[in-house]
Amino acid sequence: MKLIIFLFILSTSIGYINAQTAPANSPVARHGALKTQGNKILDEHNKITSLAGMSFFWSQWSGEYYNESCVNWLVSDWECGIVRAAMGVESDLGYLKFPSVEKQKVFTIVDAAIKNGIYVLIDWHEENAIYHQNDAIAFFKEMATKYGNYPNVIYEIYNEPLDSYNWSTQLKPYSQAVVNAIRKIDPDNLIIIGNRNWDQHPVECALDPVSGTNLSYTLHFYVGTHGQSLRDEASAALNLGIPLFVTEWGLWGSDAELDTWVSFMRNNHLSWCNWDINTKAEYSSALNPGASSTGGWSQSNLTSIGSKVRDYIIGWEPNPCTTPRSAYKTMTIPGLIEAENYDNGCPDSVYFDADATNQGGKYRNDGVDIETCTDTNAGYNVGYIADGEWLEYSLSTRKGGTYDIIARVASSDNVQSKSITIIIDGKKVASLPINQTGGWQTWQTFSIKNINI
Ligand code: MG
Repeated sequence: MKLIIFLFILSTSIGYINAQTAPANSPVARHGALKTQGNKILDEHNKITSLAGMSFFWSQWSGEYYNESCVNWLVSDWECGIVRAAMGVESDLGYLKFPSVEKQKVFTIVDAAIKNGIYVLIDWHEENAIYHQNDAIAFFKEMATKYGNYPNVIYEIYNEPLDSYNWSTQLKPYSQAVVNAIRKIDPDNLIIIGNRNWDQHPVECALDPVSGTNLSYTLHFYVGTHGQSLRDEASAALNLGIPLFVTEWGLWGSDAELDTWVSFMRNNHLSWCNWDINTKAEYSSALNPGASSTGGWSQSNLTSIGSKVRDYIIGWEPNPCTTPRSAYKTMTIPGLIEAENYDNGCPDSVYFDADATNQGGKYRNDGVDIETCTDTNAGYNVGYIADGEWLEYSLSTRKGGTYDIIARVASSDNVQSKSITIIIDGKKVASLPINQTGGWQTWQTFSIKNINI
């Protein structure tokens, strides 16, 4: 739908329910609590949401990277929307032997993620979890109690089950037991469920799913090792209606299919963490030997794949400006509200647009088209938003009471059945019908009276 709106009057915002705990404009401030719907993950505004970020290496072998500074750097310089604490469970050094040591590393990463307003996977990182079900339940009960009220936290209950384990008789019963234990404490945060052969058989899960809400299933792949047949498996699982979450992917061999895999995730709105933040001499490592464990990495500290992955992460979500919400332009009514002054975190003087041709050198990069407007004293108008999207304005009223909403609209499409829905503080208060005006710069007034603000 193309709709040109030059000005209309509405009041304060929808969303930002969790903004008080997340820094303004951070991923969690923008998206809030995640949930599943069909094969998609939605945010609290019911927008399809896909996150990108980095996985740490096994906690027991790379504990020096499990620090707040490293997370801060992954947020500020890599623009990670999510990180993954890969808590090693087995081995001589893992959680089963040193529970408090390994758990503390998870706390450090989760606390830093919450501070930064990003999402975080708490990953039970092992292959044989069916034999450690009681340990996993005790661990996730503790995590749910400590963090279940934070929208940041996502539980990944079984990193990579071995190929020899049966989904329906071994992996599903384990998953159901852990899910049930978490849900007794935390009713809603996402839980990601592993599947056979290092998370390459999600179709088996789709055919015999775990009971519960906000459950997603794991897909892992390595570029250079896995190709079209695994993408086909993932597509089949999605088509059967389960959501997938790429809690781990990396490079292992040729990078010829790197773009193919990344496009696959983008096209299917899959969230992902790349493996891994580590300096080990192997294909997947993002860092060269000598890179600091506290961030501050220069380009020469990054491996070739690390540098490419950083670029993918930075480009993953349109990145609004980082102006704090307190600095948003608040408009006073009664008065004029310029459509292009919607809240996107950008300074009032900066308009971004993906389409560079119309905008006089000012570009917003959030997917909303701003264009030069020919209406009287207009400056710019909003030229395009997609179906289901909205514009949000911060307003203050001099006086509560009854207001008229007057919109300037231009449309060369037949929009007789269309309307502008007015939502104030999350509640739909009015629907303003609009009509074809005869051109994309042919402006007419449409109005609705007696809206209580
Ligand atoms: Mg919760």
